[in-house]
Amino acid sequence: MKPTPNDNPLTSSIQYIKGVGPKLGALFSKKGISTIEDALFFAPREYQDRSKLTKVRDLVPGRPATVFARVVSGRSLSLRGGNRFNRFSRGGFRSGFEATVKDETGLLNLFWFNAFPTLKEEFKPGQLVVLFGNVEMNGAQLRIAHPDFELIEEKDGPGLLHGQSTSFGRVVPIYSETEGLTQKVIRRVVHTALNSSLPYLNDPLPESTRTRLGLPTLRDSVMDLHYPANPPMMGELPEKTSRLVFEEFFALELGLMLKKKGKAMFTAPELSQGGAVDEFAKHLPFALTDGQLEAIRVLVRDIGKREPMTRLLQGDVGCGKTVVALAAAAVAARSGYQVAFMAPTEILAEQHIKNAERYLKPMGISFGLLSSSADDKKRTMELLANGKCQVAIGTHALFQADVQFAKLGLVIVDEQHRFGVNQRNELMRKSGKKLVPHLLMMTATPIPRSLALTAYGDLDITTIREKPAGRQPIDTKIFYEAGRQKLYEQIAATLGRGEQVYVIYPLIEESEKVDLKSASKMFETFRDELFPGAKVGLLHGKMESEEKDRILETFRRKEIEILISTTVIEVGIDVPNATLMVIEHPERLGLSQLHQLRGRVGRGGLKGRCYLITKARSPRLQIFTETEDGFRIAEEDLKIRGPGEFMGTRQSGMPGFRLADLQRDSHWLLEAKEEAERILEHDPELKQKENAGIRDLVESRWKSRLDNLRSG
Ligand code: ADP
Ligand code: MG
Repeated sequence: MKPTPNDNPLTSSIQYIKGVGPKLGALFSKKGISTIEDALFFAPREYQDRSKLTKVRDLVPGRPATVFARVVSGRSLSLRGGNRFNRFSRGGFRSGFEATVKDETGLLNLFWFNAFPTLKEEFKPGQLVVLFGNVEMNGAQLRIAHPDFELIEEKDGPGLLHGQSTSFGRVVPIYSETEGLTQKVIRRVVHTALNSSLPYLNDPLPESTRTRLGLPTLRDSVMDLHYPANPPMMGELPEKTSRLVFEEFFALELGLMLKKKGKAMFTAPELSQGGAVDEFAKHLPFALTDGQLEAIRVLVRDIGKREPMTRLLQGDVGCGKTVVALAAAAVAARSGYQVAFMAPTEILAEQHIKNAERYLKPMGISFGLLSSSADDKKRTMELLANGKCQVAIGTHALFQADVQFAKLGLVIVDEQHRFGVNQRNELMRKSGKKLVPHLLMMTATPIPRSLALTAYGDLDITTIREKPAGRQPIDTKIFYEAGRQKLYEQIAATLGRGEQVYVIYPLIEESEKVDLKSASKMFETFRDELFPGAKVGLLHGKMESEEKDRILETFRRKEIEILISTTVIEVGIDVPNATLMVIEHPERLGLSQLHQLRGRVGRGGLKGRCYLITKARSPRLQIFTETEDGFRIAEEDLKIRGPGEFMGTRQSGMPGFRLADLQRDSHWLLEAKEEAERILEHDPELKQKENAGIRDLVESRWKSRLDNLRSG
């Protein structure tokens, strides 16, 4: 069923665009594009200048070019060893295709490793075609492998290239792709959105601001974002989009200034039953650490206010953030409001359910699991809508538009750095017009202060520095292949003590299938040859989530002793009796990721061990063996990988912004600050008519604080 458009086509579902059904719609949603407006603001990751045609004679190897040519011949090839080209494989076609095209100056070869069968139909002798790609030398011949192309009708000739094609004859946007979403599809959908809905975009900036700063209209700049008149330089944005950058900073600055003046635009519910914490603590089997107590104190103070909290709780793996969050949840529930507790994976959500059973149930607080595969999803949704379920624990499913809360007061986001691309925040909108829920995010990956400031504007940070008492340092060692036997002896010794073992086999995305095979092979070797007497299990991300849960549950019950696993267990898994973690191919992982993994052991009072097995010496891994300080490890990671790894900064911008980049665009930040001051001086609460647009702008940007939950 086609969703019907709203009155405002901008907020209509992307599925309203022709050719976008539920399936494509879901893929777009994954990219943070749920509405037509989202599509308008979906920034290309780069641009290709395909405005000028190059004659074959003038092609330069190593450079991209657009060529207008006629097909001479095309033929299919059967490529032996096609497996090697697996990553090109779409739908399992393994045959190659080769074509020769020509213009009046010469011949050009085209080549595909994995060809759709349709290519044979398309590349018929005499067919006119326009194509784009990187020119290379193949022996003495010029060649373009995997060109982007469009067939041209005889009657259109090169005339078609004047503004009619979305892919040729102009500067062309290149978007980041996802499996199932090709450039062509994204381009077509965005282009349709531009054509149909651009006129509905209202400019929030007052005329006077635009004139003063010489900024183009919103419509012009959005058009330029996708189809710029001039190709921008590498790493730069098209000229007219600077206005969008300004707007982002402007909304941020206005919001910050209003807040400072005590004129915050939103109120949050006062979750004031702070006494619930004592009751909560009574059910804990341990005493809270000072760090936990302090964190809870700050949280309870903040959520008791009418001003919406936006707080990041950071603390190294194993420091016990979950109970802190649950304490806040208990306060919210006791105060008559609902809580949404979001985890990045189903496994983790289920684990939080177990915690809720332990700590919330005795208080009589109701809770439910909402993940895409949870059995009684419908029932849980009903209970959320009528307010009978107080704490919803789940994955992204919590974000979905059809999930309604009766009285949402607190949103908790666990492992916030793990969240996917630009998760659109539906949750914040669920809470009614002016009332927004408090927001608590948790992470084990500390973020630099400067980022925190700009990313959220109003982000407050609480850090838990100590670990629960009784934790012993984790013995971290590197083994080389020659020492493999010794490593196995350690595994045997661990089993002998009645403790359990993780063996991590990280997959590399490009060769996932091959690696998965190696992981399965390893599982068989462990089960059949190395430890035939032990119970060995296998866990990986490609399994159905029910299967994953079942295996983890079995592991938790100690019915699996050695768990061979991919990095799916990286975040948050908590099985105190598992004390040894062996990591194969540690060189494939970032230090912070290794640290997260290591955090899975040494959780109870038992001594934890983490053994890496690798081929070559590496100073990076050496550092890892020397410290357990998550902050230091994050710093080392930062040195090696750059700040892009933090909180999902993408190449084109800062977290929290669609386009703006603090470094590149710092002068716009200054302009925005000055302009915000100027406007507020005349209209301190943005009540004047000409400022209605910016008032809406600030509201919507600040209301969508969860928009910032994205990672690269
Ligand atoms: P993380 O901060 O990495 O999310 P968890 O919340 O998963 O850590 O807690 C790690 C383990 O420590 C859990 O088994 C939890 O029950 C336990 N724990 C939490 N707080 C304490 C405490 N104060 N004393 C002892 N154990 C604790
Ligand atoms: Mg955790």
